[in-house]
Amino acid sequence: MKIVLASNNPGKLAELQAMLAPLGMDLVRQAELGIGEAEEPFRTFVENALAKARHAAAASGLPALADDAGLCVDAFGGLPGVDTAYYGTRFGYEKGDAGNVRALLEQMQGVEQRRAAMVSTLVALRSADDPEPLIAVGRVVGEITREPRGSGGFGFDPVMFIPEQGQTFAEMPAALKNTLSHRGRAVRAMAALLRERWL
Ligand code: IMP
Repeated sequence: MKIVLASNNPGKLAELQAMLAPLGMDLVRQAELGIGEAEEPFRTFVENALAKARHAAAASGLPALADDAGLCVDAFGGLPGVDTAYYGTRFGYEKGDAGNVRALLEQMQGVEQRRAAMVSTLVALRSADDPEPLIAVGRVVGEITREPRGSGGFGFDPVMFIPEQGQTFAEMPAALKNTLSHRGRAVRAMAALLRERWL
């Protein structure tokens, strides 16, 4: 079964493709079909992922899969959430990982409750009219460190400390991070849903 991936990130495609190939699913990036990016105007991950999947399904006539992800900090009521990728820009930093991490550490100065989750929401639709989207959420809970640790990974990995491992994501081997990560968990949950409901 061919499915359009409503993302143009090659890393995500490779990761999802590897997990879904055993189900006989073949992912195609929407850009390969000449489909542009959807608007993401909503305040929740699930609404944005659904909007992206619906846009890709409508434009391609194929089933579609989309994701939306970010960091949810308990002390900030779950924010920055859907604004995670642009977090640092609110505080005058350029868009990117370094500014995001710096802004987060500054905003959390003096904050004792350090708990935060990385969250990934995946939505799959059989068509743009599908009334029953498959929704899989993966989350990993950690504590935001007071300074960066480790050099692996990307994004918030150097400040995302996983207590069970005694390490930040940036200090772990990639394979271990991928097993524990929000994305790994969401993809495994989506693979199970696809097997149960679409095959
Ligand atoms: P995306 O939508 O998955 O590209 O990510 C949204 C935001 O979360 C970006 O700022 C990423 O840097 C950050 N992010 C996503 N996945 C991870 C991860 O595995 N570790 C750390 N940060 C991440």
